[in-house]
Amino acid sequence: MRNRIFHPYTPFSAIGQGLLNIVGGEGIYLVDDQGRRYVDIVSSWWACALGHGHPKVVEAIRRQAAELQHSILGSLTHPRALELAGRLADLMPTPDRHVLFASDGCSAVEAALKIAIQYWHNMGRPEKFWLVGMDQGYHGDSLGALGVGFVDGFHKPFGRAVHHPAKLPFPRPSAGDPDGFLPARAIMEQHADKMAAVIVEPLCLGSAGMRMYSAGYLGKLAACCAAHDVLLIVDEVAMGFGRTGRRFAFNHAGIDPDMVVLGKALTAGYMPLSACIVKDPIYGTFCDAPEDHTFYHGNTFAGHPIGCAAALAALDVYEAESTVARSAALAERMRQWMLPIGELGCVRELRFLGMIGVVELKEEARPRMPVLRSVLMQQGYLFRPLGTVVYLMPPLVIGEEELRTAVEVLQRSIETVMGS
Ligand SMILES: *Cc1c(COP(=O)(O)O)cnc(C)c1O
Repeated sequence: MRNRIFHPYTPFSAIGQGLLNIVGGEGIYLVDDQGRRYVDIVSSWWACALGHGHPKVVEAIRRQAAELQHSILGSLTHPRALELAGRLADLMPTPDRHVLFASDGCSAVEAALKIAIQYWHNMGRPEKFWLVGMDQGYHGDSLGALGVGFVDGFHKPFGRAVHHPAKLPFPRPSAGDPDGFLPARAIMEQHADKMAAVIVEPLCLGSAGMRMYSAGYLGKLAACCAAHDVLLIVDEVAMGFGRTGRRFAFNHAGIDPDMVVLGKALTAGYMPLSACIVKDPIYGTFCDAPEDHTFYHGNTFAGHPIGCAAALAALDVYEAESTVARSAALAERMRQWMLPIGELGCVRELRFLGMIGVVELKEEARPRMPVLRSVLMQQGYLFRPLGTVVYLMPPLVIGEEELRTAVEVLQRSIETVMGS
């Protein structure tokens, strides 16, 4: 059949070589139309934390599909969204929140950014409208998200079409500044009177190549935002639900963000659903009297009932299977197994955060990265390197032996392709 798909994030050269045709998923495996099984080592774009076909989530989707497929949240409600909003609020450090649902990560990010701007409008301070992200952060591919998250390698054509008034530099720790926070503080002090919000990926910039910074930085950022009347939006789309060894990455810093954005693993990656969780003092300003401050914003599929049912089931499974605790324990094993990879001559650095294990190769490895990817694929592993970075971000349900083998295959393949 002629391929009419305009593939996301796919170079034409890759299409030319033929794409795997994935027809099924079982646990940590994806299955192609030849019946070959591949370990989904990046959890299908970091979403499928429970692997594929988890019976509890599948059953919830089935049940909900038979009951109510869709009904909107505009001036109506439905039981799955009601219950899910309550459950999500209860997962926050302080539960007084309201939850705005959207359909994918970037649409929830857009909502968070617009809530921040309208909040200051509601408060009578419309001059505060700057949205500030971190250099090389990523918050999705819509134009608004590109204003706060801009990865040079992906987004160059759009540089002039998006507005980014200021950026926090990526943290660089030094002796006098152990978290590398001082440059960010300087920017906040200079511009806080114009800033509506800061948005960050907590502890790990995923798309920029799994670049990591300290929980100390995030703690200082939260305090600085509070001191300067700037909202803090934490984008947990990639890190949430146990990936980092805590339920949310921001839990490592002990902070209580003004807004938290969730997506990807919210439904175990089975349905498109996302959420922006908003503290009540912010939510409360969106009233319609005496002035109309209603939030005129929504996505058609916001709070889609089948998505909400999947999310409720995923939350149940995370709890029943102690996914977060298991992930933290397994992460330590993975780290130990990966350490020898750091000895290879072609390796620049290893990085770890929970169930994210990162090998950054030296610059000279760059031209060989596509070869590495295909050598891994031939052995049944679907890695997706980012530049010179190859990483494991497997489903959190991966077995110890499966994980250990994956690390060994990665090490051997790097040695084979790059020479040790
Ligand atoms: C993937 C991602 C997004 C965007 O989510 P989509 O569902 O792809 O729109 C936003 N923020 C972060 C941190 C992400 O990793």
